[in-house]
Amino acid sequence: MTDNSTSTFNLLRRLQEQNESDAPADIAQKAETTFTLQPQAQPELGQGQGFVNVTVYPQDPFVSDPEIRQMTASYINPGLVNSRFQVQDHLAAPAQPDAQGNYMFWPGKPEFDQVNSFYYATFTLRMYERYAQRALPWSFHQERLTIDPHAGVGGNAYYSELDHMLGFNGFQDDNAVIQSSQSADIVSHETGHAILDGMRDLYNESFGLGSNAFHESFGDMTAVLVALHDDSLIKRLLDWTGGDLRIDNFISVIAEQVTKRLQAHGEKVQGRTVYLRNALNKFTDVPFDQLPTTPTDPELELSREKHNYSRLFTGAFYDIIAGIYEQMRQVPADRIAIHGTRDIVGNLLISAVELGPVCELTFADMAQAFLAADNLLHDGKYTDLLVDVFDRRKILSSAAAREFIAKLKSLPDLQAPAAVDSSEVAITFLHEQVVSKLNLPTDTAFSPLAA
Ligand SMILES: [Zn+2]
Repeated sequence: MTDNSTSTFNLLRRLQEQNESDAPADIAQKAETTFTLQPQAQPELGQGQGFVNVTVYPQDPFVSDPEIRQMTASYINPGLVNSRFQVQDHLAAPAQPDAQGNYMFWPGKPEFDQVNSFYYATFTLRMYERYAQRALPWSFHQERLTIDPHAGVGGNAYYSELDHMLGFNGFQDDNAVIQSSQSADIVSHETGHAILDGMRDLYNESFGLGSNAFHESFGDMTAVLVALHDDSLIKRLLDWTGGDLRIDNFISVIAEQVTKRLQAHGEKVQGRTVYLRNALNKFTDVPFDQLPTTPTDPELELSREKHNYSRLFTGAFYDIIAGIYEQMRQVPADRIAIHGTRDIVGNLLISAVELGPVCELTFADMAQAFLAADNLLHDGKYTDLLVDVFDRRKILSSAAAREFIAKLKSLPDLQAPAAVDSSEVAITFLHEQVVSKLNLPTDTAFSPLAA
């Protein structure tokens, strides 16, 4: 136990003695073992700032009991607001800190759902900003995305660009109320939609299956990446699988609790099982005109429904994680190799989005964008793996992939000036770099777009 977690453990015990905390007694014991989120992974970490404690469900209520996490104090303010998110709850006033500044509530209180969704939404955004190495904007001109942890009744959640919000629904199941805001998987998935919309505003305007299914896949890939930041989950994953990520496991399954309860009620939405999507799958692509609209068994068959079809790309993404992990690990169950793999794949994903199409796309386009990202970030280090995965998934044939890579390699090396801050610099760049290296006709007059 580190000094930090020791002092938190003592703080919890004191709180418990004074009966000032909402957390029940056993959480104090948990404090000893759950401060495992590695420092470099915490989006809330900052220099010289204090931390506050929050209680959350790692990944999903179905996977484990609540645990304690820390946020940098400046990322969580009374009423659950920071520079990018604010909680506005239909059910209850937003949580206030206790006397020590902590936000420790127990499931059953609306404040727990507020803190859980606020924490994971913030975590998800900071994770991608770290990968992108820049601030990632929303798709709308407003500073904050609103989170409503009790938006309505149902077993789902949503991102609304129009209302600038993430809404999480809940439903009554026998004696328990199931809240989707309690699932880190679902919160990360919906926040992923908002982040991708900020980067590629036209994807969710598209009528095409590719762009819409990639949006869904991006949400599920986000949930997997967020879960792989949590050392207590990684430890359980490695214990469970013995280090073989190709064995069925909880990380590869998205939103277990909501789905199991809905399944128990026999509910299906649009011919698919709600949420539960397994990234560990064997789907291979099917030409669009052969994809059924209403498959006989949506669990086992790809269809034209975007959530259903998204599983194909998420499956390929998971294969890439497993493949890079197998290359990196030094020992059978190597926690450090999981960290390394996660960050390589997270960087590839965010770079692929930035290098990929801006509107309509097929999964083949996005596979090419992954190859381009690998070429840019790693000089093609993972090309063989990527080509193999996308070929086996029938997303992009190995011949087409090799042809694309050859084209990438033959691109001229354009050297942009340090700054294009005058028309002289711009015209010099145009003639010396763009026209000559791209072999554009020299007798053509170029005019600025705004002219
Ligand atoms: Zn979604």
